[in-house]
Amino acid sequence: MNREALELFRVDPRREAALAIEDHVVCRECGASVADLYSHLRKTCESQLSVAEYRAKWSGAPLRCGKQLKANASYMANLRAADPARERRRSRRWYKLNRPKAIAKQKRYETAHPERVKASRSKTYSKHRTEILERTRQDRQAHPEKYRSRGRRSYANERERAKDRARKRYALLKAALQTVKQRLDPKITMAAALAMQGTTKYDMKRQLFPEQNITEKAYDNVKKFFRRKGSEIEAERQRLMALPLTKRNSEIQRARLRLNPTASTTTT
Ligand SMILES: [Zn+2]
Repeated sequence: MNREALELFRVDPRREAALAIEDHVVCRECGASVADLYSHLRKTCESQLSVAEYRAKWSGAPLRCGKQLKANASYMANLRAADPARERRRSRRWYKLNRPKAIAKQKRYETAHPERVKASRSKTYSKHRTEILERTRQDRQAHPEKYRSRGRRSYANERERAKDRARKRYALLKAALQTVKQRLDPKITMAAALAMQGTTKYDMKRQLFPEQNITEKAYDNVKKFFRRKGSEIEAERQRLMALPLTKRNSEIQRARLRLNPTASTTTT
């Protein structure tokens, strides 16, 4: 196998499956095509890696060809079918002797295929629902303290999470309100303030449209502005009226300055 072909296998741990190669796997170290990397790594590979090292370096790459995997699976299935009790004993014994290895293997599988694990768990649950519920009930009766402390823990956790969610929501709302406030047209605040003081629209023209020097046009602008933004001006008037006097005056002053930054503060 040349370097480019080997490189394709090195970058894709699932290349054998993608190409539907069943009768061999490619050693990512030396490019050899073999049925089973366990003996290849031990005996003939020039890399001298152990199986664990190979697995760590080429994560997800197959160690046995598809044919062997299938043969193993059907061999095990036959054994299980022939004497299920014996197989259960055997696998329990193996698990006892190889617990860390088994847990590591399970973890590897769970991180590699989270969706498969989820599907199989929910399948198992729906299949054995009554048994599981009954066993849990018995366990709960046998160890009430365990379940009480677990319940307390999950209640406390849930409360913390709820508080956290509320805090986040509040922060979002506050930020949204802030932007609305900043975006609120100072003209609207100003118009509301002037309307509150009983100023006529004609007299508002200088303060609302200071950049318009032609009196008639400025007056037209005021009328148009009230037609377009009438409801917003009214809402703003009610908001201002509800504010304490000092806060109200400072907001009006700020709107005045935003509208006409060059205006001197002597007008107030
Ligand atoms: Zn090799």
